[in-house]
Amino acid sequence: MPGMQGAFLSVDHIGIAVDNLSEAIERFQKLLGGPPESIEEVKEYDVKTAFFGVGETNLELLEPTSLDSPIAKFLQKRGSGTHHVCLSVSNLEGLLQALKSAGVRLIDETPRKGAHGKRVAFVHPNALCGVLLELSEQMPHNEDPSR
Ligand code: ZN
Repeated sequence: MPGMQGAFLSVDHIGIAVDNLSEAIERFQKLLGGPPESIEEVKEYDVKTAFFGVGETNLELLEPTSLDSPIAKFLQKRGSGTHHVCLSVSNLEGLLQALKSAGVRLIDETPRKGAHGKRVAFVHPNALCGVLLELSEQMPHNEDPSR
């Protein structure tokens, strides 16, 4: 989809699934030398997340808050570790439409509410060699109820 090339802006974060968020925060804090920039519960996905800033990008630690959480299922199957890569995009809705018509298998055909008031959608790992890809769009401030 050459027309959508400009839609991808940067690597927003890498998501890491963990069994115990406070223990994981301690470990990453030791590595990175400082506390997470934010800790937030994301109801839409039944997860509690902690974001560590790393240069231009971030590491996101994810702990499930229920057995229905996609993170709980991942931990059961594969144990803790890298869960997804998130790319920051513009025009998420248009991009999802374009990907769908190009035959790319999507988990979310319409954006959902992610951490930090962003809109997010996931692309199925079967579409990308086993990598679960999150697409994330910063909402304009006037549409963001959390600000
Ligand atoms: Zn994420």
